[in-house]
Amino acid sequence: MRYFNPDIETMPLSRLRQLQSERLRNLTAYLYERVPFYRKQLDEAGIRPSDIKGVESLHKLPFTRKFHLRDYYPFGLFAVPQQEVIRIHASSGTTGKPTVVGYTRQDIAVFSEVVARSLVAAGCQPGMKLQNAYGYGLFTGGLGLHYGAELLGMAVIPVSGGMTDRQLMLLQDFQPEAIACTPSYAQTLAEQLGHRGIGLDKLNLRTAILGAEPWTEAVRQQVEIGLGVNAINIYGLSEIIGPGVSNEDFEEKGTGSYIWEDHFFPEIVDKDTGEPVPEGAYGVLVFTTLTKQAMPLLRYWTNDITNIYYEHSEKRTHIKMGTILGRADDMLIIRGVNLFHTQVEAVISFFGQLSPSYQLIVSREGAMDGVEVKVELEPVFYRQLVLSGPWTEASANNPALYALHHELTKKIKDNIGLSMKITLCEPGSIPRSEGGKLSRVVDLRK
Ligand code: ADP
Repeated sequence: MRYFNPDIETMPLSRLRQLQSERLRNLTAYLYERVPFYRKQLDEAGIRPSDIKGVESLHKLPFTRKFHLRDYYPFGLFAVPQQEVIRIHASSGTTGKPTVVGYTRQDIAVFSEVVARSLVAAGCQPGMKLQNAYGYGLFTGGLGLHYGAELLGMAVIPVSGGMTDRQLMLLQDFQPEAIACTPSYAQTLAEQLGHRGIGLDKLNLRTAILGAEPWTEAVRQQVEIGLGVNAINIYGLSEIIGPGVSNEDFEEKGTGSYIWEDHFFPEIVDKDTGEPVPEGAYGVLVFTTLTKQAMPLLRYWTNDITNIYYEHSEKRTHIKMGTILGRADDMLIIRGVNLFHTQVEAVISFFGQLSPSYQLIVSREGAMDGVEVKVELEPVFYRQLVLSGPWTEASANNPALYALHHELTKKIKDNIGLSMKITLCEPGSIPRSEGGKLSRVVDLRK
C-alpha cells in the first residue's frame, strides 16, 4: 500500500483548495451558530459568516489562543451536546488546569484516518505489528496511534510508555516491525539494548514513529543505528486532534512532514504581528480544523515555530512543514539573530564527548548581547581526561579538551551564525531545579 487514502493524498491542489474552502464556509457558519465564544469573536471583529468565501478570507478571522481554551474550561468550547461526545482527552498543561478536548464518533474516525495515513507514510503496512509505547491515558498519543493502527489493519501491542524491561522483552518475543514512542524514549531503548548486549538480530523492527517533542537529526541517527530502523517524524497537538496532524514519508526522509491539509488548514504567521509570512519563511504555526465536530478551532495559535512549503513531490500534493524549532516564547533574540536553544543542542549532539546536559546563559554588556554555553562532558570521556591529568575547566591545559573546545566553538559559529563563549563542565555540575530539570536558558537581561 503506497497511500492510505490515495484520492485525497494526491488530489490536485486546485481541487483541494475548493474542498478546503467549502469546509471552511460550513465551519464558520457552524461555529457562529453553536459556540457563543466564536459568535462573540466574530461579532467583535465585525465579521459575518457569509464574509468568509473560502480559505483566502481566512486571515480576516481572529486567532484562537490557548488561554481561550483555559477560560472556557472544561467544556465551554464544545459545539455539540454532551451526548454526542464519545471521548475526552486533556493535555498535561505545565501551568494549572489542563487543556481539554472532545471528540464525536466522526472526529474519532477522522483522527484514526489521519493516523492511518501517517503510518503508511512512515512505512507501515496492514499485517505488521506496532508496539505502541506512547502513553495511554488523557494524553492523545496512546489511543490516537492505537485507533489509527487498527484502522490500517496492524496488530497493536498496547504496552504504553515506560517499563523498559517489558518493552525489550516484547520487542524480542513478539517481533513487531514498528514502534511508536517519543524520540527520547527511543534513545533510551537503543541505549539499553546496547548495555544489555541484545543484538539487533534479535529484533524485527524496521520503523520507529517518533513525536510529541522536538528532536534533531543527530537523535535520528542514534535511534536508526541503535534500533536498526527508519526513524520517522509524527507531529500533532491535542487541540487540533492529537498525533497525526502531519507526518514524514519514509521515502522523503528529512524533507519535512506532510500536513493532512484536507482536515487541518495550516498558516505561518509572524510571531509579533500575526501577519502571514511568505511561503517557506519561519513563524508561528496556526491551524484551522476544517472538519472537526465536537470542538473545532478557527486559526489556533500553536505557538510552535516552523515553516511550511510545497515541494511538488511525485508522491503527494499536500503541503509540508519543517521541523519545529521551538515554542514562540522560547525564541531568543541575540544581536538581532533569532535563536532557539535547540539549535545549540543540535550542534552539541554531534559530539560524542559531550553529554546532552547544557545551559545557555544570556547576558548584556553595554549594548552587546552575549551567550555563554555551558555543557557537561560525557562521563566516560570525562573519566579518561581525569586519568590523563588533573581536571581543570581551562581547556588550554589539556590537548583533547582544547581541540574539543575549538571545534565546538567553530561549529556553533558556522551553523548558527553567532559567536558564543563555550565552557566545558564536569558531569552533573550545572545546577538542576528541585524536580531535577535543567533550565536550558538563563536570561540575565531581564
Ligand atoms: P502535551 O501538551 O500534554 O504534551 P500535546 O499533544 O498537546 O500534549 O503537545 C503538543 C505539542 O508537542 C506540540 O504543540 C509541539 O510543541 C510538541 N510536539 C508534538 N509533536 C512534535 C514533533 N514531532 N516535533 C516537535 N514537537 C512536537
